[in-house]
Amino acid sequence: MKYLLIFCLFVLLNCGSKSSQPADAVQPSAPEPAVAEPAADTVADDLPEPVQPLPPDYDTTQWTEVIHLDPTIGLDLRYATDNNFVSEKMYDCPRCFLRPDVAKAAVLIHKELKKKGLGLKMYDCYRPRPIQWKLWNKVPDPRYVADPRKGSMHNRGMAIDLTIVDSLGNELDMGTDFDFFGKEAYHNYTGHSEEVQQNRQLLLEVMLSHGFRSTSTEWWHYSYKPKTFPLDDWLWECE
Ligand SMILES: [Zn+2]
Repeated sequence: MKYLLIFCLFVLLNCGSKSSQPADAVQPSAPEPAVAEPAADTVADDLPEPVQPLPPDYDTTQWTEVIHLDPTIGLDLRYATDNNFVSEKMYDCPRCFLRPDVAKAAVLIHKELKKKGLGLKMYDCYRPRPIQWKLWNKVPDPRYVADPRKGSMHNRGMAIDLTIVDSLGNELDMGTDFDFFGKEAYHNYTGHSEEVQQNRQLLLEVMLSHGFRSTSTEWWHYSYKPKTFPLDDWLWECE
């Protein structure tokens, strides 16, 4: 009995000494494990983390943050700045979410362009419907902004506004800026230089070959078919 008591006391003291240790105490250093090459089937788990943590309600069956698939894709989300046609910041932070198949197609296109020393740069991706309302309330004109009651492919996470950049990230000359509303932005406008027309043609061909379709009045806008996802109100979080 005496020995049992001593044993119990020893256990209690030992536990007490452990629990009183500060959480950030330096643990005795263990030898560094040898760095092993990852097995081929673990590569998918080694995807880079996005710049910001994924939102807690991020549903991978619904959404893919594009830079999570490929961090080399360029982002210049104009509605997260005041450099846009309403001159007002509409998104709290620049994040490009798309429906999973749309994001995968965009990454394939980016990889294809990379072989030519080029790449994609996104101006706008999924646009939550509450933001569509903000835009509509500022510019209630269906020539420039889709009526949120009807919604647009951006509100479904199935449209991208984008351009092509060179290996240094410089935008190729497309003849007009993003969200330029006028005939110079039309696909059939013939007044641009040969270079501009070739640049637009390159974007058009690579997008069409991966399941996107163009719109006649905006060289930067492409939507993915078929229309399989609903209009959405989900708002991503910012840190
Ligand atoms: Zn668009």
